[in-house]
Amino acid sequence: MGDMVVVRKEGLYCVPGDFYIDPWRPVERAVITHAHGDHARHGSAHYLTAAPGVGVLRTRLSEDASIEGIAYGEKIRHKDVTLSLHPAGHVLGSSQVRMECGGEVWVASGDYKVEADKTCAPFEPVCCHTFITESTFGLPIYRWEPEQDIFDDINRWWRKNADEGRCSVIFAYAFGKAQRILSGLDPATGPIVCHGAVEPLNRAYRAAGVALPPTSMVTDVEKAALRRALVIAPPSAAGSPWMKRFGDCSDAFASGWMLLRGARRRRSVDRGFVLSDHADWPGLMTAIRATEAERVIVTHGSIPVMVRWLCQQGLSAAGFETEYGDEDEAVTAAPLAGEAADA
Ligand SMILES: [Zn+2]
Ligand SMILES: [Zn+2]
Repeated sequence: MGDMVVVRKEGLYCVPGDFYIDPWRPVERAVITHAHGDHARHGSAHYLTAAPGVGVLRTRLSEDASIEGIAYGEKIRHKDVTLSLHPAGHVLGSSQVRMECGGEVWVASGDYKVEADKTCAPFEPVCCHTFITESTFGLPIYRWEPEQDIFDDINRWWRKNADEGRCSVIFAYAFGKAQRILSGLDPATGPIVCHGAVEPLNRAYRAAGVALPPTSMVTDVEKAALRRALVIAPPSAAGSPWMKRFGDCSDAFASGWMLLRGARRRRSVDRGFVLSDHADWPGLMTAIRATEAERVIVTHGSIPVMVRWLCQQGLSAAGFETEYGDEDEAVTAAPLAGEAADA
């Protein structure tokens, strides 16, 4: 049998199952690992995704898109393939795709994070012969602190600003990162305000049963109360007229890229919080080992470094060229010379 998954111009294609995984061009059947823009694109005839992700996927595609949800672990048959979805721990509804055909098992990871958090089902290692892994932060320099330490830093920064009568603004990707920050905030400090791009995602999370602290739109909060507020806004809101109402505020950016001094400098914010929804280097290695795969195919991120390292570990490894980006790539636009920030 040839390879179960190959790269076609439309995207990753499962040959015996006749479907695509996160295709970047419209196709007949798309299996979607999660609803980030670079993985969930418009125009396909049918979409299949994990049940907890149906709500968010619908907010990103359209009301009338044909979307089917299946429970994590539920097996369905498509052509010659038995397919199931397993939690990837990345964002609400994110999954790894397990494909079995004639005793051979392949798993495509989508984006994943190994550390558990309160906003989505935790990453589940799935045994397979071939593992297709992402590598967004696939360099040994990327190591995350436990998320509680980051939440403590954020809460401390917010409290200090509030006590000084200054509003706190965090720029964070609207889907996933924003809700994860929310899950760690101490609402006793002051009101929590979310930008109009963030609030619909909060609603989808709450509808899926994720507990988030109360949030308001800026128009619902008295001007005086804004001085104690924490505001969550997408990176695109930085420098926009929408920001004017917060006056002399302290601003911050939350992303894994904040580990890089150059990325912090480019955002020119007061604080950078290193919080990522992707696995760090040890996380990638733990996850890959846990699959017991003898063959690993590396996609978007640091492909050459990961492939070389995995080959040194005695695995068979290769790269797949894909058109996935990174939801936080705005942070790394125009990398400075000598900086590893090419995602
Ligand atoms: Zn993603
Ligand atoms: Zn991705």
